[in-house]
Amino acid sequence: MKFYLLALVPPIAVAAAGQIGPAPGPLRVIGGPATGGCIAGAVSLPPDGVGFQTIHPDRSAFWGTPQTIAGLQFLARQAAAAGLPSLLMEDISRARGGPMPGGHISHQMGLDADVGLDMRPRPPLSQAERQTIELRSMVRPDGREVDPSAWSPAVVSLLHMAAGLPDVDRILVNPAIKQQLCREVTTDRSWLHVIRPWYGHAAHMHIHFRCPAGQDACQELAAPPPGDGCDASLQWWFDRLDAPARPTVPHRPPPAPAACAAIVSGG
Ligand SMILES: [Zn+2]
Repeated sequence: MKFYLLALVPPIAVAAAGQIGPAPGPLRVIGGPATGGCIAGAVSLPPDGVGFQTIHPDRSAFWGTPQTIAGLQFLARQAAAAGLPSLLMEDISRARGGPMPGGHISHQMGLDADVGLDMRPRPPLSQAERQTIELRSMVRPDGREVDPSAWSPAVVSLLHMAAGLPDVDRILVNPAIKQQLCREVTTDRSWLHVIRPWYGHAAHMHIHFRCPAGQDACQELAAPPPGDGCDASLQWWFDRLDAPARPTVPHRPPPAPAACAAIVSGG
């Protein structure tokens, strides 16, 4: 057990009215980011805590593995100690995992979390603001550069802290954000390995944690290639902005792992 788990709040077994609660423990994390999956024994991130607030409570879900929830709380405490504004936490997973509204293929196993990147100083959000806030993009509309009116060293600090969390597998951000880190980070660049470019992700980062120890039915992603990723693989994302748009192929999600049927349905 790592030290930061000691601060974990007790598991909350009560879900909001009308919503199914978590499947009882012990913890079981089943599936993978390519197939979707589910979770038993999930715990929930409280609506507020030191250095964070959850947002969009009517359309988001805040359940995860104990390691995910503790990691997010640890990140928020670190950010608060560094003088950063409260982190705004979006989707993690539903109480039993499985498909999320909005079509996330990940976020199904309690191992993924979206955290807003806007680090401009601001007061805590009111209840109404938490429902309606739209996270500010860090990237220009053309997708080629960060937006200097939103970007700051505090955003770099937050990404650096997140990349150093225990058990973090990778963090997805918009290619323009990755590009800016490649330019700005000059001393220790080892953590850039964890920060990977992906579609969207201009207003939030997507933190993906590794499978907890002993979860044999939990599939890891293939490891990112070695190095800081500030290379031709990053340039590819900008080259494709110039390429003609290709017709989109309808995506049919693969069937969920069979072991998830009972967990997700509540049986
Ligand atoms: Zn996400």
